[in-house]
Amino acid sequence: HEPIAVRELAQKLSLKMKDVGERVLRLGGSEEYYNWNPETKVDLDVAELVGLELGRTVKRMAPPENLLEYRSRVREGRGGRRVEWPLRPPVVCVMGHVDHGKTTLLDALRQSRVAAAEAGGITQRLGAFHIPGVGEGGEEGGLGITVLDTPGHAAFRAMRMHGALATDIVLLVVSATDGLQEQTLEVLRMLEEQWAEEEEDFCMQRGGEGGKMEGFSPSLSLMVAVTKVDKLHGEEEVQTALYKIEHALAAHGIMSEALGGDVQVVPVSAVTGAGLPDLLDRVRLQAEMLELRADREGPGEGVILDAGMEKGLGMVMSVLMRWGSLAPGDVVVAGEQWGRVKKILGARNSPGGPVDRALPSMPVRVLGLRDLPTPGQEVIVVKSEERAEAVAKARREAAERRRYQETAATEVLGEEEQE
Ligand code: GDP
Ligand code: MG
Repeated sequence: HEPIAVRELAQKLSLKMKDVGERVLRLGGSEEYYNWNPETKVDLDVAELVGLELGRTVKRMAPPENLLEYRSRVREGRGGRRVEWPLRPPVVCVMGHVDHGKTTLLDALRQSRVAAAEAGGITQRLGAFHIPGVGEGGEEGGLGITVLDTPGHAAFRAMRMHGALATDIVLLVVSATDGLQEQTLEVLRMLEEQWAEEEEDFCMQRGGEGGKMEGFSPSLSLMVAVTKVDKLHGEEEVQTALYKIEHALAAHGIMSEALGGDVQVVPVSAVTGAGLPDLLDRVRLQAEMLELRADREGPGEGVILDAGMEKGLGMVMSVLMRWGSLAPGDVVVAGEQWGRVKKILGARNSPGGPVDRALPSMPVRVLGLRDLPTPGQEVIVVKSEERAEAVAKARREAAERRRYQETAATEVLGEEEQE
């Protein structure tokens, strides 16, 4: 999120400094760039514009992409003082095999608090809801939990692809009566891929070649809820089911606490409510261990969960905040679209009521976009409408070029095949 020097940008993009500087001057649209030199700091959206024009991809070093920075959990404050970022609520994503009880569990969790239940009707459309913490005033201690409405594996994959993974904890739902099924294993495979990718990134940043690395811990962690335990008869049957499921998980490299690993496995019933308070406590415990922190200052960043028309509101974009803050009046680029935030609504301050400042891990609804953005893509705050428009336009054009090239490639292939 920090501006980048012309020199460093040129290096990262493997371009001549002069070429980069010229574009910064022309595309930056700001007086500060008129007399650029190698040390001139360039805003990341200008860097992106420069990259797009020169056929390069500029990735914002946003967490969890930049895991090292993410993990250091401190930043340089004013006067070079180290400032610790505040804790943020964990974001939990419920996944699992069809009919194993994801929706029922989400409904039960939503009703587990009066306020959350009231907000449910509104937050349902968000694709996320927030369970307030004990004595939540926003400060450390008693943090809430943000739960992503099961987005389906496709949406989850889209978020991964855009590097905008919005989840801290995957809560894998496994039916006590059915055990591990096809889609359960699919989730495990997806996690495996994610972990491998993160580890590789971690090694690269350390200047290594990839492979296993000391000190690595993934940003995405796993918990297991064994549901429908009310269908079993007595504690003994429950223990047998847990034993079977934990050993089946171990066969896939997932070690539960009972088997000497660190994955929590919690028996619950979404129908009777048994085990639900324990489940929430354990999620909080997990979050505490992950020590999730994010900067609340500076321009906001989030992930688009959903976008569409809402009666009486017009175009609404659901966003999960990841970083910094977002407030009405801010100018945002959302994927390939842009707009000035007219209003923010969310489940946090009051059910569906206005939010004056959206902070990390908060699910909110944002009004003010001009066109529908694509879920899974990122939302970022930028300095001005001119810049937002330029970035959105450059992104659309780049996407258009990619599509054109893909079509051209397919056509060439098609012709060859016909021969
Ligand atoms: P999803 O496909 O994973 O979202 O599964 P659902 O939440 O739709 O649940 C599938 C079926 O299992 C429904 O008929 C639920 O009523 C039932 N179910 C879900 N959780 C429980 C539970 O804890 N106990 C019992 N007895 N039934 C459950
Ligand atoms: Mg469902």
